[in-house]
Amino acid sequence: MIIVKGIAASPGIAIGPAYLVKPDNTVIEKKHIPPTNIGWELRRFEEAVEKSMADLEASQAQVKSLFGSKYAKLIAAHKLILKDPLLISSVKNKIEKEQISAEYALSCAAKEITARFESLKDELFRERKYDLADVAKRLFENLTKKKQNKFSGIKEPSIIIAHNLFPSDTINLKGKNVLGFATDIGGKTSHTALLAQSMQMPAVVGLSDASSQIKDGDLIILDGETGLILINPEPKILKQYKEEQIKIDEAELSLKQISPLPNETSDGHKVSLYINYDPRRDFKAWDAFRSDGLGLLRTEFIYMDRFDPPSEDEQYQIYKKTAHRFDKRPVTIRLADLGGDKITQLGLGRREKESNPFMGCRGIRLFLKYPELLYTQLRAIVRASAEVDASVKIMIPMVSSVEEVREVKAALKQVLKETEDSGIIPRRPIMLGAMIEVPSAALSLDGILPEVDFISIGTNDLIQYLIAVDRGNQEVAELYDPYHPAVLRTINFIIQGCRKKGKPVSVCGEMASDPEMIPFLVGLGVDILSLSPRMFLRIKSTLRGLNFEACADLAQAAMLLTSSEEIKTLREDYSL
Ligand code: PEP
Ligand code: MG
Repeated sequence: MIIVKGIAASPGIAIGPAYLVKPDNTVIEKKHIPPTNIGWELRRFEEAVEKSMADLEASQAQVKSLFGSKYAKLIAAHKLILKDPLLISSVKNKIEKEQISAEYALSCAAKEITARFESLKDELFRERKYDLADVAKRLFENLTKKKQNKFSGIKEPSIIIAHNLFPSDTINLKGKNVLGFATDIGGKTSHTALLAQSMQMPAVVGLSDASSQIKDGDLIILDGETGLILINPEPKILKQYKEEQIKIDEAELSLKQISPLPNETSDGHKVSLYINYDPRRDFKAWDAFRSDGLGLLRTEFIYMDRFDPPSEDEQYQIYKKTAHRFDKRPVTIRLADLGGDKITQLGLGRREKESNPFMGCRGIRLFLKYPELLYTQLRAIVRASAEVDASVKIMIPMVSSVEEVREVKAALKQVLKETEDSGIIPRRPIMLGAMIEVPSAALSLDGILPEVDFISIGTNDLIQYLIAVDRGNQEVAELYDPYHPAVLRTINFIIQGCRKKGKPVSVCGEMASDPEMIPFLVGLGVDILSLSPRMFLRIKSTLRGLNFEACADLAQAAMLLTSSEEIKTLREDYSL
């Protein structure tokens, strides 16, 4: 048995015979052409570009219907490469000036551009060289009018082993007797890996030279959970993996089955389960979760990677589309939380580098400093709320004092008046809420509560600011501790404060998506948990397995303890 370690690119376990994809070793010979043929050669290349574009258009539609629009964007990226004057004019120049065949000119130009990609520091950009190679391969096939079908020989369910797979290859794997795939190259963020995840096909990439160690028909265990490939495993190991595979399948299946069941503990205590959304993502797959609402729309992502802020119209379209997906359920739109680690490139006329961005001009602070951004976003939300049945909620990030809440409230009032004057009226009253993620806001809760309709606890930041531990710094990662008594006591303080005033309270930080922390949050009496999509069904399953009375006892007992270790031990010993 040989074991090779690579990068886990898509989870799941696949067991089956290897199907080896032979590397494409075609050598493109340098071929000179007579000057009289230059025009003809250029036309041949242009026709190949046109044909490749038509292929990509067709492929884009196919990918969109199979995997959703997020993945169709990969093909859009290939279309951009195909339109890139750097590639096109470089090939044409070579044909004209060096009087060489279109095939050879293409291979030289692709090599030059690849070298530029390889010199880039950012892994994400370096990975794009595979997209370029994929486009060049497509162009080459259209020039030579010879299409390769790498997978035509697959006769039984197999594991594909290749030096590299292009995204265009990966798309074609669906429904082709393919159990999973392993490649020598590629990283976690490569498009091939992303496609594997969307197809729910186990995959391991970055295996160095595994493809040269494997023969056609070798028995392979592909472990997409840990990134291992086991070649011709011993019977004992094979048995263990088969058992593990059955367990994973059963767990997935039973999770899907709980979707229609109520969100409550075993003794009937209800907790609403909302979902957190990144507006850049495709939502389709998550509709099946039947969440009770959208608890956090991270709108700042609409502002990233651009110099001009999104217009009111652009935002309005996004909010309207998102809210429509939730029919009459609540949709919580957070005002953009720019700053901190969510670096913005917006040309705001200043933005000197802050030495301490997490404590700097972030979230509502930035919006109050640049009110046009605040007003534009509020107008977009109000306009969307006039077109949808969802109950729209606006949430303020990074609140550190009641004055900030009052300022936003006044701005919303003004926007509502102006929009009403032009005939735009929300279908349902818009709720305004504050995120509690800064200790000063937690301690001023009694002042904030009368100003708002709801509270949402942002535990990611609350932990960072309470313990003074940068949430993104590896050096202090050990100190970032949700079990810290100060964290649990502060959450208790906030929840009890809200309950006294009858205001709903949710938790929308990652703590709500941690199965170990759920008994504490439920036991303290939280009304809503807003979860990251990948954890939604797991948390639902955890909640349904808990007893509320026991959780409440556990939470109360934890309040009396003074160290994280004691709280962890209590949690382990507690029967829930
Ligand atoms: C939080 O801080 O818990 C939160 C939900 O906001 P973000 O992670 O976007 O800062
Ligand atoms: Mg936050």
